Amino acid sequence: MNLNNFMKSEITRNGFTCPLNPAQIASWIVIAFNTIIFYCIQVPLSPSVIVLFIRHASSIIFGTFLIAIAITAYLATKLNPSDPHLFMSPEELCKQYTKPRKLKDEHKLDFCHLCQSFVGTESHHCTQCNRCVYKLDHHCIWMNNCIGYNNYMYCDKAGFFSL
Ligand SMILES: [Zn+2]
Ligand SMILES: [Zn+2]
Repeated sequence: MNLNNFMKSEITRNGFTCPLNPAQIASWIVIAFNTIIFYCIQVPLSPSVIVLFIRHASSIIFGTFLIAIAITAYLATKLNPSDPHLFMSPEELCKQYTKPRKLKDEHKLDFCHLCQSFVGTESHHCTQCNRCVYKLDHHCIWMNNCIGYNNYMYCDKAGFFSL
């Protein structure tokens, strides 16, 4: 195994890659705790019929938001936002960049000394994940993952639903 392959095997691919972030684990515990409190204590304790109706309606809305948070947060954590060039062999890179392409920007590559690889000029290196991320927005401790072009939409929606 040469140095390049060794470096590539060390890259964090998504937010489920160990070590998990304590903030990430805490966020899942808080969501689970809220769910238990809401459904096991709040709903059964409701007294009158009207209050009961409101409680049931709110529990459906609450449940829908919970499912939406779980799905979007899972996708934002699971998706790999890395620069795709990191996972290409030198042969694949050559093949890709000698073909005529529609977008001239796709030709532009920089060399990242930390990744020891060519990456797109719009990628930035995340020191926590040890990889370059295409259109890096930020490193999210709650998802234990970088937020970039591939998963920005899901992170944004997970944030919206948790409000
Ligand atoms: Zn890099
Ligand atoms: Zn990162």
